[in-house]
Amino acid sequence: MSLDRRQFIAIGGAAVAGMTLAPGLRLMELAEARSPEESVTTLQRWGLLIDTTKCATGCTSCVDACHTENGVQSHNRPATDPQWIRKVTLKDKQTGYVQNLPLMCQHCEHPPCVDVCPTGASFKRADGIVLVDRHICIGCRYCMMACPYKARSFVHEDTTGQKPHAPRGKGCVESCTLCVHKIDKGENTTACAEACRKEGHNAIIFGDLKDPKSEISKRLAAQASQQLRPDLKLNNGVRYQGL
Ligand code: SF4
Ligand code: SF4
Repeated sequence: MSLDRRQFIAIGGAAVAGMTLAPGLRLMELAEARSPEESVTTLQRWGLLIDTTKCATGCTSCVDACHTENGVQSHNRPATDPQWIRKVTLKDKQTGYVQNLPLMCQHCEHPPCVDVCPTGASFKRADGIVLVDRHICIGCRYCMMACPYKARSFVHEDTTGQKPHAPRGKGCVESCTLCVHKIDKGENTTACAEACRKEGHNAIIFGDLKDPKSEISKRLAAQASQQLRPDLKLNNGVRYQGL
């Protein structure tokens, strides 16, 4: 039995006994919010492979699709609007060569955001997906300071247009969920990868890094790739090609 499963049973037992954690929040609700599906195991590690040579200048299809899929709305305040994924442009000052890449949570195997979270709201599932439990996030933003990729956002505004699969809340931190709701339904894709494919760019591949037969694993085995800031030894679930 996994640790997550044991924790779930222990917490669930306490809830059955009628305990309450805080006004308006029952332990069972907390357990349900954090409890992964039975099918979540370490047998899989989900990830993305991004080919920067195929990422088009000026294209924001992945960003738009992500924010639509997850109900992340702009308030026309670029400095504080949440960004689950953003386009980054790199320019070689000597040659003028420009590259584009989408940047989202890198779903680190050793996530600094999880290490520093004082409440356990920031956590990693057995299959490698790093998430924030908004029910116990206190908005301290330690995780945002710890993340080397600026992958997390603080929600400054009241939220509207929320999606049932992506609960959001003012005063909480959030980031790319690797479209966990799709994974748990067995869809085997993400909104960003799907949007990029529909645009004809195919710059983003989603898949199981532990399955040697998956497209992502075959590509990684056949062609050079790299993690961003490999010196940090975080073993990211998101890999890049063409950098
Ligand atoms: Fe955490 Fe940042 Fe790594 Fe994502 S990229 S797992 S938010 S440290
Ligand atoms: Fe957004 Fe899903 Fe892509 Fe993450 S995997 S950047 S949540 S669309």
